[in-house]
Amino acid sequence: MIKEFLEKHGDYRSDRSFKDLTTLRMGGGIAHYVEPYNLAELKEIVRFLKANRLPFKLIGNGSNMLCGSSFYDGVVISLRHFDDYEIDDNEVYVKAGVLMPYLSQVLAKEGLSGLEFASGIPGTVGGLVYMNAGAYKKDMSQIVKEVVVLKDDEVVTMNRDELKFAYRYSIFQEHPHWFIIACRMKLKKGDSKEISDLMKERYERRRASQPLDMPSPGSCFRNPDNDFAWKLIDGIGYRGHKFGGAMVSDKHSNFIVNYDNGKAEDYLELVYEIQDKVRDKYGVKLIMEVEKFNC
Ligand SMILES: Cc1cc2nc3c(=O)[nH]c(=O)nc-3n(C[C@H](O)[C@H](O)[C@H](O)COP(=O)(O)OP(=O)(O)OC[C@H]3O[C@@H](n4cnc5c(N)ncnc54)[C@H](O)[C@@H]3O)c2cc1C
Repeated sequence: MIKEFLEKHGDYRSDRSFKDLTTLRMGGGIAHYVEPYNLAELKEIVRFLKANRLPFKLIGNGSNMLCGSSFYDGVVISLRHFDDYEIDDNEVYVKAGVLMPYLSQVLAKEGLSGLEFASGIPGTVGGLVYMNAGAYKKDMSQIVKEVVVLKDDEVVTMNRDELKFAYRYSIFQEHPHWFIIACRMKLKKGDSKEISDLMKERYERRRASQPLDMPSPGSCFRNPDNDFAWKLIDGIGYRGHKFGGAMVSDKHSNFIVNYDNGKAEDYLELVYEIQDKVRDKYGVKLIMEVEKFNC
């Protein structure tokens, strides 16, 4: 019955796993996966799932998620079809499923500046807003003007001031069943070549300092106040440390990578060991930035 319903409202699959939906490439199978065709179909799906008390999880590009090995007997929803944008003078209205590296290239060509910091963050617009993702002392809160949200069967527009943006935080983390549908961002007019050059330079910096050739969900821990997680991890001697198929990257010690068919249990073992040792040596509690799901 679930399959038949979802098939009517979006692209449906029953053979997907978190392993192929996340950048860490770990995680178990999924009972149902659906990409709703549009907002009306998404509303139908959410109504149905809530009425039938079925568990569901929205996924963006899976670039900040650690998913457990056990089978997820629920529905994973992707906004892959929410993939268009409109540019109006120095503003862009963009749907939540658009990938940020693509959007930042488009805006650079249009000579719109403001998203250079985000060009190397491999998530969707929805995922970046949810996380208030950032880099180089900038984050999404500085450019988001308003967000269109599906909340409790209603589509509403929320202004930036209502979104409780803070370091890697937004109001959406308090409401896992609200869907970011689209976002309006305010940019500045700039020189197309200068914007592209800055993005290229930043990409080279990332390539030199991050293990982009290995599956990972980016930084594992949030940076504690006035410090860097990678320094503390280096301080306990964990750079390059392995457990099972997971390894603290030897290129960037705040990245835990899947180097050999790792499982969420391997990744978490390293997380807990690091948290214990950093607490014992420095009295600092490291908090995960990566979201755990189904584990
Ligand atoms: C190589 C690499 C480098 C990275 N560098 C950075 C960096 O510099 N800075 C940084 O901040 N992060 C970085 N990240 C982490 C990650 O890319 C960001 O956290 C990003 O914002 C996650 O977006 P996503 O679409 O992949 O979300 P997902 O990982 O798919 O989901 C994360 C959470 O967002 C929710 N979500 C996703 N879309 C929506 C939506 N439309 N509405 C409501 N909720 C939604 C999901 O339900 C989930 O709870 C990096 C990751 C990698 C792999």
